[in-house]
Amino acid sequence: MPSKNNSRNLATISEVVKGGYCVGCGTCAFRAGGKMLFTDMGEYVPDIDSTDYSAYASSCPSLQPEQNETVIGSNLFRENATHEIGLGHVTGTFAGYANEGSFRQHGTSGGMVSWVLAELMRKDIIDSVVHVKEVEGANTEGPFYEYGKSTTISEVKQNSKTKYHVVELSKILREIKESDDRVAVVGVPCMIKSLRRLARLDKDIKKRVVFTISLVCGHLKSVNWSRSLSWGAGIHPNQMKNIQYRIKGESVPARAYVCQIETQDGTQKILDTANIVGGKYNVGSLMLPACDYCDDVVGETADLTIGDAWLPKYDVDNRGTNLLITRSNEARNLLISAMRENRIYLDNITADEARSSQSGGFRQRGEGLSHRLQLALDIGKKVPEKRIRPGEFKLTALRKEVYKRRSIVSRDSRIAFKEAIEKNDYSIFVSRMKRQLVILRHLEFATSFPRLFINKFNRAIRGIALRMGRA
Ligand SMILES: Cc1cc2nc3c(=O)[nH]c(=O)nc-3n(C[C@H](O)[C@H](O)[C@H](O)COP(=O)(O)OP(=O)(O)OC[C@H]3O[C@@H](n4cnc5c(N)ncnc54)[C@H](O)[C@@H]3O)c2cc1C
Repeated sequence: MPSKNNSRNLATISEVVKGGYCVGCGTCAFRAGGKMLFTDMGEYVPDIDSTDYSAYASSCPSLQPEQNETVIGSNLFRENATHEIGLGHVTGTFAGYANEGSFRQHGTSGGMVSWVLAELMRKDIIDSVVHVKEVEGANTEGPFYEYGKSTTISEVKQNSKTKYHVVELSKILREIKESDDRVAVVGVPCMIKSLRRLARLDKDIKKRVVFTISLVCGHLKSVNWSRSLSWGAGIHPNQMKNIQYRIKGESVPARAYVCQIETQDGTQKILDTANIVGGKYNVGSLMLPACDYCDDVVGETADLTIGDAWLPKYDVDNRGTNLLITRSNEARNLLISAMRENRIYLDNITADEARSSQSGGFRQRGEGLSHRLQLALDIGKKVPEKRIRPGEFKLTALRKEVYKRRSIVSRDSRIAFKEAIEKNDYSIFVSRMKRQLVILRHLEFATSFPRLFINKFNRAIRGIALRMGRA
């Protein structure tokens, strides 16, 4: 259980914002009638200088640890679900994809997020969907994507695909509150957590949000990450119109992040983000600082969690396979009955397999978080109180160095990219980050060589089996 808040833990929204612990969810701005600022770091924060936020800590995901994910999950799901370490409350763990229509083809992974949203509409459980859509007439100064509503299945499909891009909820929450629609909301774990906290305080939001889907989350990227990919691809951020982060194709492995960038004059460029400085997702370039203090990998407060089934037996299939975790019987039954009608494909997987499919995320947010908390406390910094305790894991010196270096990459990349934009010189970002990324890569390789070797071997074997099966 969480210990009592003390002077080393955060207590106010102002401390959250100033300490770099704000995920930019916008629930405080919604409640306070304030606004969210879009900063030159390409991130959202509440405008704490123009509005008094002191009364709105109770919905902030970084404050009030007594309402952590385990407690919220217990209140919502305890009756029917079992509790699994790292996964939260669970009624089922699956790997699968949509068979019906073109959901899988148009989805980032197995297309199950869009399929479930469509199914909820077909069954008249919801009237509309709150998810992430392109900003109409986006200009190069602002975000490319934002929360919006879809009211038809074709609109849901049009707005499929993952956007590794920050979004905030304050504007759409006003829309949800003002309409009578029953909505399903899609969000990363911290967004769903703040929505759950808000629903305890606002009866209109509670009534209207009838279903939540959490995406599994590695970490959030600022909008500057998208701009850095564009610049690295040879397109100046001022020329960028939009970006698709993970496109599919015969020659694109499921785990690859091959992006497509479109310019203002309509030309398109496709390239593997791993070939761009800071483009390899996991190195943490242009990550929100708050994500270094998260311990919810799989959205433990959502009715249904969907991610990628990163297991050797699934990730050899480049058409994409989802990881699915249900927390209510309704969510589980919805999937099982469609599976029986062959509209979706589902395998039951164990909780261990579900955890293994996100092993990197659990290491970074388990032992890694524990080490980062300890480092912050050692220098007298206030930190959010998490379910993971500072220094609770025994780590080798090399592993500690990996976690420290990842945080340095995140911190320095934000500063270097901002400066590159200000001076209109991409080489500032490249020269500062290249060496750091090489050091990090070597350290990661040194600590994870046996695991990487076994995974690669398993994938090769499964790949051959899959190709033989398809032939
Ligand atoms: C920041 C981020 C980090 C992620 N990290 C991981 C990870 O570490 N491991 C993992 O397994 N999966 C991760 N995912 C989830 C994964 O990328 C896929 O989104 C997921 O597998 C669903 O694929 P799908 O084909 O079912 O979705 P689709 O059918 O393509 O539908 C995606 C849906 O999500 C909505 N959406 C897209 N971006 C966002 C967003 N930023 N916030 C809220 N809603 C959004 C879309 O509007 C659409 O409705 C991450 C997603 C995000 C946004």
